[in-house]
Amino acid sequence: MATREDDGQTEDYLFKIVLIGDSAVGKSNLLARFARDEFYPNSKSTIGVEFQTQKMDIDGKGIKAQIWDTAGQERFRAVTSAYYRGAVGALLVYDISRRQTFESIGRWLNELHIHSDMNVVTVLVGNKMDLKDTREVTTAEAKSVAEEQGLFFIETSALDSSNVVAAFKMVVEEIYRILS
Ligand code: GDP
Ligand code: MG
Repeated sequence: MATREDDGQTEDYLFKIVLIGDSAVGKSNLLARFARDEFYPNSKSTIGVEFQTQKMDIDGKGIKAQIWDTAGQERFRAVTSAYYRGAVGALLVYDISRRQTFESIGRWLNELHIHSDMNVVTVLVGNKMDLKDTREVTTAEAKSVAEEQGLFFIETSALDSSNVVAAFKMVVEEIYRILS
């Protein structure tokens, strides 16, 4: 969904962005941190909202990022096509301390490509970078996979806020760059 609406003052863009990735990698907390500066130490899938709209300013243009979060259905591999429909951006999240969530990237990319445009801007997000002592995926390896797959890449921590804004900005700026 990339529409321009005229509210009489500025031109606004509305970008639909989806959060995808295995269960418990921190998708809902990344959104909570970004949209409300909140964090839930023991969150269950119930904190997921359908989507959250966040206003951002890129190049002096008002941009509304409509960020979709799952309600935990990824646990059952049951993310529906309605979730992906119209998405122009995606944050594909894994947990740097759980290698298995990194191994799932290919499956998520397939899902994304089946259900949406081939050219949906995708950022690979290695979350929980605060868990240095239990890291199972190096930055270098993730970077090289991202390059191979044509993805942008960033590491974040929803816990200590590192790079959270930067991750969302990265996807929005790139979509904007393509459209303008
Ligand atoms: P989701 O299933 O992908 O939406 O994951 P959640 O956002 O529900 O997070 C799953 C668990 O990981 C929760 O207990 C969070 O508190 C925790 N968590 C999320 N982000 C981080 C992070 O950046 N660092 C750490 N240490 N824990 C996190
Ligand atoms: Mg969630």
